[in-house]
Amino acid sequence: MSADPLIAVLIGPGGVGKGTIAQRLTELDNGLWLSRSWTTRPQRPTETGSEYNFVDRATFEQAIAADQFLEWAEFHGNLYGTPLPKAPNNADILLEIEVQGAEQVRRANADAVVFLILPPSMEELEDRLRVRGDSDDHVARRLSSTPSELNKGHELATYVLVNDDVETVSREILSILEGLRLQRRNPSEKE
Ligand code: 5GP
Repeated sequence: MSADPLIAVLIGPGGVGKGTIAQRLTELDNGLWLSRSWTTRPQRPTETGSEYNFVDRATFEQAIAADQFLEWAEFHGNLYGTPLPKAPNNADILLEIEVQGAEQVRRANADAVVFLILPPSMEELEDRLRVRGDSDDHVARRLSSTPSELNKGHELATYVLVNDDVETVSREILSILEGLRLQRRNPSEKE
């Protein structure tokens, strides 16, 4: 039986609904602990402030120098990072991050399970990006990097799921995680 927590990583283009799925997963499964990232991105008007630990670049860079991140990456001019996880005992770790960070997590932890979340269509993705309150320019930049994020995402993903419906996709993820937990408890039944 493995004592290490399972690390589940949600990746996918901005606007695909990773954050909503991550929240729903932690509501449905109290054995999952959602990491709160740090970012140098300014808070959006639509955000409450609890979405991230919003910090300035100097503070973020000090934390990098002090090796305080499991992974970090620069994405569209802002820094984002996962502080070294302090999950409660026996909890599995849930990360909602972009692909460069997911690559680092995978390199450090080959067992990390990576879920690529896809939008039902590119039109829907664009609509979802627009309602978040970012400028048109920012939305256009986010959309322009979507194809390369998706390519990298497909290379990294253990599972690929379409977010047609948050509840359905969350329950699919939980059933996969439950299977993985069982395998880890009974490694002899793997094959
Ligand atoms: P947003 O600015 O839209 O909140 O996030 C931009 C991207 O950064 C999203 O794909 C989000 O998943 C990702 N992200 C959020 N937190 C982290 C983190 O800690 N590390 C990395 N590498 N990416 C993150």
